[in-house]
Amino acid sequence: MYPVKKKLNEVLSRLPNGVRLVAISKYHPKEYIEAAYAEGQRIFGESHEQELKQKHLALPADIEWHFIGHLQTNKVKYIVPYISMIEAVDSLKLLKEIDKQAKKNGRVIKVLLELHIAEEETKYGLTLDDCRQLLKDGEWKQLDNVQLCGLMMMASNVDDEQQIRNEMNIAANFFDEVKQKYFADNDSFCERSWGMSHDFTIACQCKSTMVRIGTEIFGPRIY
Ligand SMILES: *Cc1c(COP(=O)(O)O)cnc(C)c1O
Repeated sequence: MYPVKKKLNEVLSRLPNGVRLVAISKYHPKEYIEAAYAEGQRIFGESHEQELKQKHLALPADIEWHFIGHLQTNKVKYIVPYISMIEAVDSLKLLKEIDKQAKKNGRVIKVLLELHIAEEETKYGLTLDDCRQLLKDGEWKQLDNVQLCGLMMMASNVDDEQQIRNEMNIAANFFDEVKQKYFADNDSFCERSWGMSHDFTIACQCKSTMVRIGTEIFGPRIY
């Protein structure tokens, strides 16, 4: 088995105060999650509804599951009964569906809005202008069963540290902009989810509050 315990603690020792770890366990067996859980880790991230469901049923109930992938609206109903946070909301349509299903379940679901800042065209997410427009339109304010907790983004998958830093700083500045404009009185809007295995140390210098780390803890994924 991969040395999950050692790797997890190495990662944790590199996170400054105020940065929480979402351990990304997609494609890894539940034994790996158990090893991290035994060390006290409670927040795990998955990106596929079926895999998440199986792990949720098999593992301790106090795990906080974050959905980190692209979520189709027709899958929302399956995860809403137990999901703790949906990190990658990139449309009002998805937000409204989460609200609708959450209401049916008598829950309030935490969500992050996903920004598209990276240069890669294949990535999902709202452009800054789309995000501004969504917030300005204000329909989200009527959605009582979703709680907007902040922003999420993935930097470009490049070696150029300066580019990664620039993208994360754009996200951090944008957070300040919308925080001031729409969430100044709302303490729940506080999360900046950026930083993965290859760039989390940069993210920690760019105001991240939540890093999503898989490979560095669990090893390479076997697809
Ligand atoms: C898989 C994934 C991660 C983790 O990536 P690693 O490089 O393995 O740390 C983080 N965020 C998202 C959205 C992912 O899909």
